[in-house]
Amino acid sequence: MNLTHAECRQRATTVAVEGYRIEIDLAQAADADVKTFRSTSTITFTATTASTWIDLIADRVVSVTLNGQALDPASYDGARLPVSGLAERNELVVEADCVFSRDGQGLHRFTDPVDGKTYLYTHFEPTDARRLYANFEQPDLKAAFTFVITAPQDWQIVSGQAEESRTSTGDLATVTFEPTPRQSTYITAIAAGPYHRATDTWSIARADGSTQEVALGALCRQSMAEYFEAESIFEVTKQGLDFFDREFGYPYPWGKYDSIFVPEYNLGAMENPGLVTFTENYIHRGAATRAQKESRAEVILHEMSHMWFGDLVTPRWWDGLWLKESFADLMGYHVCEAATEFKDAWTTFASGRKPWAYRQDQLPTTHPIVATIDDLEAARQNFDGITYAKGASALKQLMAYVGRDAFFAGAREYFVQHAFDSTELDDLLGCLERSSGRDLKTWSRVWLETAGTSELTPVVDVDSEGRISRLTVQQVATDPLTGEAVSRPHRLVIGLYDVVDGSLRRTKAIETDISGDATEIPEAVGVSATLVLINDDDLSYAKVRLDATSLKTAHEHLATIESPLSRALVWTSLWNATRDAVLPAADFLDIVTAQASREPDSALMGTVLTNAKSAIESYLPVAQRDAARTRLVETCAAGLAAAAPESDAQLIWARHLTYAASTSSDGVDAVRGLLDGSAAPDGLSVDADLRWNAWASLAAQDAATAQELSGALAADDTMTGRTAYVLALASRPTADAKAAAWDKATTDDTVTNDHLRSLVQGFNHASGDPAPEYVERYFASIGDWWGSRTMVMASILARGLFPGGSLSEGQDPAEHPVVRQAQGWLEQHPDAPKALRRIVIELLDDLQRNLRAQATAPSLVE
Ligand SMILES: [Zn+2]
Repeated sequence: MNLTHAECRQRATTVAVEGYRIEIDLAQAADADVKTFRSTSTITFTATTASTWIDLIADRVVSVTLNGQALDPASYDGARLPVSGLAERNELVVEADCVFSRDGQGLHRFTDPVDGKTYLYTHFEPTDARRLYANFEQPDLKAAFTFVITAPQDWQIVSGQAEESRTSTGDLATVTFEPTPRQSTYITAIAAGPYHRATDTWSIARADGSTQEVALGALCRQSMAEYFEAESIFEVTKQGLDFFDREFGYPYPWGKYDSIFVPEYNLGAMENPGLVTFTENYIHRGAATRAQKESRAEVILHEMSHMWFGDLVTPRWWDGLWLKESFADLMGYHVCEAATEFKDAWTTFASGRKPWAYRQDQLPTTHPIVATIDDLEAARQNFDGITYAKGASALKQLMAYVGRDAFFAGAREYFVQHAFDSTELDDLLGCLERSSGRDLKTWSRVWLETAGTSELTPVVDVDSEGRISRLTVQQVATDPLTGEAVSRPHRLVIGLYDVVDGSLRRTKAIETDISGDATEIPEAVGVSATLVLINDDDLSYAKVRLDATSLKTAHEHLATIESPLSRALVWTSLWNATRDAVLPAADFLDIVTAQASREPDSALMGTVLTNAKSAIESYLPVAQRDAARTRLVETCAAGLAAAAPESDAQLIWARHLTYAASTSSDGVDAVRGLLDGSAAPDGLSVDADLRWNAWASLAAQDAATAQELSGALAADDTMTGRTAYVLALASRPTADAKAAAWDKATTDDTVTNDHLRSLVQGFNHASGDPAPEYVERYFASIGDWWGSRTMVMASILARGLFPGGSLSEGQDPAEHPVVRQAQGWLEQHPDAPKALRRIVIELLDDLQRNLRAQATAPSLVE
């Protein structure tokens, strides 16, 4: 099922596709006993070769007809259909029975437990269009697609384009859609089912006299309609279309714009032109914080920017994945801040998104933003923190480097030059060089074509009156792949802070260029500063350290800094230092206790509390954990008691109280009090999702009976309720419960993607190390999982069940038994699939990092 870059590159030189007509028969889709559906793909293409192959993953090929001649389908191997006897111009018809999926890839089928209704949707990236229809599955072979779908009359039947015509027979309708503009296979899409649909229109009258109208749709399951905030989805959609129309200067090219929110979705969203898919997690069944709404807006805008960057102009191969994802990630935050009510989007980026990049960039598997992707397996593993978050950070730095206007002017030229075509890095850089007048080759080499993060440390000398007499910024940057030093230029801001009237104020901001090993900052001389923050305003991407004075100041005054973005940057610096074992986890937790309750930005507070939980469970020595867990429960309980009624802070404290209680029996009473209302403060909405958090937490403490858990399910027998119930059962700490969760996860292949995630998460819901038998079983089984499950499901198991471990007193991290076993597995399986090895290498590195932090932390006695 793999496809290599070399063979796809070769195929693209020998065929050119004109169009597809794809007929899909969903007449029996609502019958769960029917496992397949008929798919007929008619492909017209020219060829300069006598033979090629077609990609298709089907249960069975029914017939193949090339230019009117029947071919024998016997040569089909389950993934490829060889085709020979090609003429210069060809019509190939492939009729196949394809399979309804339960893992979120291909054509996913879901039955709603609330009302028994069936919903279908597709997800194809990178190469699962071949699970729906026979095709040339590579992004540079673009074509026009005409979908024809047969399904029950009373369903919504949708695709990327508007309906062109419809015929009816009995209860069934056959809908023919308008042909798409030329596009890649991985962004084609269909959906069918009794979806609820809301509609609106976006229109614009431009200064040049032209006008445009785009029909908007927003769809979700019927049982989610009561929670569906279609108006706010449309509002952000229109704000985004206004922005992109103006700044990209290329009219929205895909006709209509539907947004569909679907169940059991593996990721956040997907940029199918005209039919964008989103996870249902963006529909809030209960109270939602502003941060949750902001995150939905960011995703809407991320996907919308792909309509141009990715869909209109497409990376030629998957090594260009970053080209579309970095840009879309940047735009998600940029447009949120520029065009919607969510003005603090960059704070979210700094505190919530960039740490993903910093983590990934320090793993042994890190890679340059511009990566080499030899095949599909590698491509699937590259939807990572480098491609998205680091790429976006680098482009943000590029925008600071060339200026915003030149940046967008370059993008405009890029769309005009390459519309409906495929591109590579040089095509984008060429446009940006022309618009900015700058040579970007060196910039690209050190930022896009090297790996690793720069570490920036201030060296501060002060005079006898406490004023800075010399400030130097030291840069350490080595490409971990080559071992060579990298001298990256950074356009950045240095913030100098001092305590004024009890608050930490920024008294000076110095915008400057940093390069090389050390850069003197003469503008800082003479300024009185108790906190020096490099990369204030977050223009660049680097691990930033605090000097000793700044650390002390942060401990005492961090929450009083006015700008949430600056506070987020200090918190991120503290977190990076904790992960690197530079700052003991106990010190990080002290700062959390002192500052988190005073943090004015509740979203940032939530991120800090999540990190505090990780610091306890991963980085703190075992002997200190129980006390720290108790303290975290107390911090959350106090925060909850003090929070304003109905505020975001109140909800976030309540959620974190339930998380904290999952590893501490000291939280059980408080969580019970939330559930029965006796300890729920005024204004707190103890909705279904919070109740499930509470039940999972009690279950993890063995403080919920089986009867109580089934009662909770009876009260919320929905898709979400059932998934949460699976999680709660698997969270129970008994040996039997863990064994049941493990067995179901690893042997029952009827379990859906969402339930598998819950089983794995629940299995890990424990406050101790896994029993040694599971370490053995993990390493004995991962090869089989990889061989027998789809990539999505095998990845959930291989990542989720990797055994953790903690350091016992006096133990050498290198001697830890799980470390030894993981290393042994890697040594004994040099030929295991690269994607599986990558997972084991990364999780081993995480474990070693945890153990290092535990080993270097000062003991309790000190
Ligand atoms: Zn994207």
